[in-house]
Amino acid sequence: MMKFHIMTLFPDMIRDVMGTSIIGRASQKGLLHIEAWNIRDYAFNKHNSVDDYPYGGGAGMLMQAEPVYQTYRAIMDSYEERENAPRVVYLSPQGKMFNQRMAEEFSREDELILLCGHYEGIDERVLEEIVTDYVSAGDYVLTGGELPAMMMVDAIARLIPGVLHNDVSAEFESFQDNLLEYPQYSRPEIWHGRQVPPILLSGHHANVEKWRREQSVIRTAKFRPDLLPDAVLTLDEERLAEAYLEAEEPEK
Ligand code: SAM
Repeated sequence: MMKFHIMTLFPDMIRDVMGTSIIGRASQKGLLHIEAWNIRDYAFNKHNSVDDYPYGGGAGMLMQAEPVYQTYRAIMDSYEERENAPRVVYLSPQGKMFNQRMAEEFSREDELILLCGHYEGIDERVLEEIVTDYVSAGDYVLTGGELPAMMMVDAIARLIPGVLHNDVSAEFESFQDNLLEYPQYSRPEIWHGRQVPPILLSGHHANVEKWRREQSVIRTAKFRPDLLPDAVLTLDEERLAEAYLEAEEPEK
């Protein structure tokens, strides 16, 4: 069972979302343990406040070091039997951009601590003391780290055996081989005058696989050409991608 500890000022946000659908069911089945830790429970003043003005001035408030540190200590004290200290991820726009490879790497951990900032962020000193990884959801600024933390948990958790019904590890998915997934269709065969590609109705498995693979290459060239240099392609597939890109190139 993989354990996720999410340090946050808004634990209800985590519990509502993570208790729903596939991730909620996987937790009920005991495949995951997702716990939201309320940093405010570790406030050390009578007003229960956890933020203060930044030294040197500037807009907004900063989360103080001590409540964050005490929440971390409480998580560390909650289990005695662990062999190694878990990695502590601070969700931050300054971090490394999250991707499928990172999800795969994190899914090999037994336990992860995710730290969500709010306001203008967190006192640097506690970050220096406890954080092992800085991860970003993308090049934009959000109000808090809760959405990126849940995004990470979702992407990591669905890689854990048993969380999804089908054995997705054996299936092709976007970012496998650094390619995007092929287009998919369900019933009816014709919708709004649009026909499902006839090859998918042929029942010829090998031809279907070949078509899907080609579509993946074309799609990646179309939507994410930046993935192609690291894509695992045959010579024919490389030519297919090049032909697509050349056809798309505006005339000089
Ligand atoms: N002042 C900070 C800066 O410029 O780097 C941004 C603080 S942001 C308003 C508040 C919190 O939201 C951050 O501490 C972080 O936890 C979270 N956050 C905001 N944008 C994020 C992103 N792109 N990825 C991950 N976390 C983010």
